[in-house]
Amino acid sequence: MVVRQWQYGTGVVLVVLLVWLAMPWPAQAGAAMHGPDYLLVGVATAEPTPHRACTAQMLAGPRQQVRVPAPPAGWSGEPQALDVFNVFAGEVQVRHGDREICGDMHDARTRDSRFRAGVGLVAVPPAGSHEPFLVSWQTPLKDRWVPTLRLGAPSPVQQNDTARLLVRAACIAVALALALSALMAYLTTRDRSFLVYIAGTGVLVLWQAILGGLSGYPEPWLPVGTRGAWWLLALTAASQAMVLPALWWLNGGDRLWPKSRLLQQMVLCALLGVAALVPWLRWDQLGWVAQGLQVTYLAGCGVSLLMGIGARWRGDRWALAGLAALAPMLVLIGADACAAEWLLEYRVEALQLAITWLLMMAAYALNLRLGRLRQQRDEMRQLAETDGLTGLPNRRAGLRELGHHLERVDRERGPMVIGFLDIDLFKDINDRHGHEVGDQVLVAVARALRAAVRSQDQVVRMGGEEFLLLMPGMPREAAAARLDRLRQRITEACQALQVPGLEVTASIGLAQWRPGEDDLAALLRRADHAMYVAKRAGRNRVFDGEELDPPAPA
Ligand code: GH3
Ligand code: MG
Ligand code: MG
Repeated sequence: MVVRQWQYGTGVVLVVLLVWLAMPWPAQAGAAMHGPDYLLVGVATAEPTPHRACTAQMLAGPRQQVRVPAPPAGWSGEPQALDVFNVFAGEVQVRHGDREICGDMHDARTRDSRFRAGVGLVAVPPAGSHEPFLVSWQTPLKDRWVPTLRLGAPSPVQQNDTARLLVRAACIAVALALALSALMAYLTTRDRSFLVYIAGTGVLVLWQAILGGLSGYPEPWLPVGTRGAWWLLALTAASQAMVLPALWWLNGGDRLWPKSRLLQQMVLCALLGVAALVPWLRWDQLGWVAQGLQVTYLAGCGVSLLMGIGARWRGDRWALAGLAALAPMLVLIGADACAAEWLLEYRVEALQLAITWLLMMAAYALNLRLGRLRQQRDEMRQLAETDGLTGLPNRRAGLRELGHHLERVDRERGPMVIGFLDIDLFKDINDRHGHEVGDQVLVAVARALRAAVRSQDQVVRMGGEEFLLLMPGMPREAAAARLDRLRQRITEACQALQVPGLEVTASIGLAQWRPGEDDLAALLRRADHAMYVAKRAGRNRVFDGEELDPPAPA
C-alpha cells in the first residue's frame, strides 16, 4: 500500500516537471526576453548595492586595526585589491579613501562577490597618492589566529581567493561523501559504529562550514547572525568531542586499555557540555574557553600519540592508521608553535585538510574492523557447521543444505534422491582394531565419498558412522547404481589403509523426494528405514526405500 502511494507521488512529481518544462521560457524565468540572438533573464533591481557601509553598531566591541601603507613611491594608479582572510567572527572593515566595505564571514551577501573566501575591496588609488588601506576586525579569540591580508592586482588576489573557496568546499564535499558511504555501510551491516561516524562527520562538517565561511554561502544557512565567535567556539568544542575519542580509538586505546572507554565517554560528555554552555557565556569569557580547548586538544593529541606508539611497539597493526591520522595534526601543532608563515596564511585550509584526512583514516579503520568482524563470524560459522574429524558438513549444515535443495527441486521440478549410509558393525571395528583405526576408517570413508560424487552432490556426516548423500537432479535408478558403486569404493578405500584383518562394508538406504506430499523429516525417515532394511537383509548393500513403500498414485 505504501509502495503504491509512493509510486503515485513520483508520478505526480514527474507530470508537474514535464508540464513545467513544456511551458514557454518567460513563464519559467519570471522575467526573460527573447531576441533573435540572445536570451535575457532577470529583472532590474531597485535595491541598494549589497556592499554595506559600516555603522557604529557593526564596529562595536573589542577590535584591532591596521594601516596598510602605500609603497614608498606612492600607488601606481592601477587598481588594487585587498582581501582579508582568517577572521572567523564579526565584521571586517576595509577602507580606502571614500570606498568602504563591512563584510561578515558568515554572510556572503555582505561581501564583494569577487571575493568569496575572504572580505575584499578593490580601490583605484590615484597615481602617486599615499592614502593607506585601513583594515579592522574583531579581536580574535586566540592570539595566534591573526588575520592574513593579501594585497595585489585584483585578478591574482581573486584567483587565490577562489582557490581557497574550492579547497574549503572540496573538504566538506569529501566529508559528506564519506558520511553517505558510512550510511550505506550501516544500512547493509546495521553496525552502530557507522552511525557514530556519521554523527561525528556531521559535527565536523558544520565546524568546517563555520570556520571557512561556507555557512554563509551563497546565503546564510545557519542562524549565526552576529554571534560568529560563539558558534565557532561551540562547534570547536563539539568537534573536539568527536576528534579526540576518534584519535584515541584509531591509535589502539580501546584495544590496549579497554577500561579507557569510560574515560573517553567522560571527555566526550565534558566537551559536549562545554559546547552547550558556550552560547550562554559573555564575550570576555570566550577567550578562556578557547585557551582551555587548546590545552585539551594538545593533551588529547599527545596522549593519542603515546598510545599509538605504544600500540605499534606491541605489534598492533591497526595503530598505523591512528598514527597516520595524527600526523597532519602534529605537523600543524608544530607549525603553530613556531608561527610558520604558511600556516598563518592557510590556516583554514590546513585545518580542513587535516580533518578530512582524519575522516578518511577513520573510515578506512572502520571498514577494516568490519572486515575482521565478518571474517571472525565466517570462521565461527565454519567451525559450527563442519565436522572436525572428516571436514564434512555436520548434521546441522547438512539438514539446512537439504532444505535448500528441496526448495529448488520444488521450483524446478527435477528428481531429488538421498542416500543414508551406515558403516556395518563399526562398533566391532573399534573394539577389534582400536578407536584410532575407527577414526581412520571414518576419514577414509569421507574422502572416498567426496571423491566419488558429482560436484553438485553433497556428503554430510550425520554423526557417528552415519553419512547422508544428497544427489539433486539424478533419477532414482541411476542414483541406486551410483550408491552401489560408492559402497564398493568404501570397501576399497579402507583396504588401502592396510590394517590386517580390517574389512569395512556399509549399508545404504535410498529415498526419493515426493513433491507435494512429502516433508524433510519424512524423507529422512524413509531413507533411515530403508537403511535398516538393508541391515536386516544381511548388510553390505543398497536398499531402495521407494520399492518398500511406493508413493501414492497421483
Ligand atoms: P550396525 O551394523 O548395526 O550399524 O552396527 P554398528 O556397530 O555399526 O552400530 P552401532 O550404532 O552399535 O555402533 C556405532 C559405533 O560407532 C559406536 C561408537 O562407539 C562408534 N563411533 C561413533 N562415533 C565415532 C567416532 O568418531 N570415532 C570412532 N572411532 N568411533 C565412533
Ligand atoms: Mg549407526
Ligand atoms: Mg553401523
